[in-house]
Amino acid sequence: MSIEKFSVEKVLSVHRWTNTLFSFTMTRPAHFKFTAGQFARIGLKVGDDLVVRAYSVVSSPFDETLEFFSIVVPDGAFTSNLQHLEVGDELYLEKVPYGFLTLARYQLPLPKDLWLLGTGTGLAPFISMLQDFETWSKYQSITLVYSVRTASELAYVTRIEEIAQTFGEGHTGFKFVPIITRDPQATLHDRLPILIENGELEKTVGLALNPETTHVMLCGNPQMVDDTKDALKARGLTMNRRGEGNIAVENYW
Ligand code: NAP
Repeated sequence: MSIEKFSVEKVLSVHRWTNTLFSFTMTRPAHFKFTAGQFARIGLKVGDDLVVRAYSVVSSPFDETLEFFSIVVPDGAFTSNLQHLEVGDELYLEKVPYGFLTLARYQLPLPKDLWLLGTGTGLAPFISMLQDFETWSKYQSITLVYSVRTASELAYVTRIEEIAQTFGEGHTGFKFVPIITRDPQATLHDRLPILIENGELEKTVGLALNPETTHVMLCGNPQMVDDTKDALKARGLTMNRRGEGNIAVENYW
């Protein structure tokens, strides 16, 4: 991999949510432009090698810094080194962003109800989108569904509330719906495809998944993405291709 494709950036902050989940911010070079929902490729020097991984940007396209949300993959060449990140450390950032999990891809159906369904660190692109006023102006309803295993893994909850107040001020159609799959006491604790199949998700939100009015974005666990896609297709929703269709997806690893 050619090192010229990267710029060298500095870590500005590190926030640890749990032993295995953390977020970090780093400097953003002026040339790095992205659309909310896209991902960056970040490189870390491990010995003489540059190890590179894709990370969805958490921050808004208008922020001066870049924020990312990461899990520590046991024995993973990248994250097991990345977890020791400290303020001032250097990271490599590929100069161009990637990815098509952006609202720009939707032409039909016309925007009305936006469902953002994420698991684990797959929440990241949705936090970016929610910090873009355009998202709020396009949709009458925005539902953010965030599935984690345990309550301690529910990162960004306070930020989500703040974002909804700041960016969604006056918008009455925002709902944040956590799912905690390994807590039987949680209001919603089944996996997403089950909650779609049995109608519990729609009941909780008070909206129908309607092929005429719904855009759904999925991001996270690849098996969740596949299974949820199937559950949505069974409800008549279609994959978005060349601008048309309801469902857009990003596998997270
Ligand atoms: P996860 O296993 O992805 O679980 C997060 C949420 O997704 C949980 O609520 C989980 O429910 C749910 N889920 C899992 N499979 C699903 C499916 N088929 N359909 C619907 N929902 C599903 O947990 P994580 O903490 O985000 O990640 C766990 C492991 O994934 C890590 O240990 C790591 O190895 C790997 N990972 C790798 C990367 C990478 O970049 N390489 C990134 C993220 C994660 P349940 O509680 O029912 O399982």
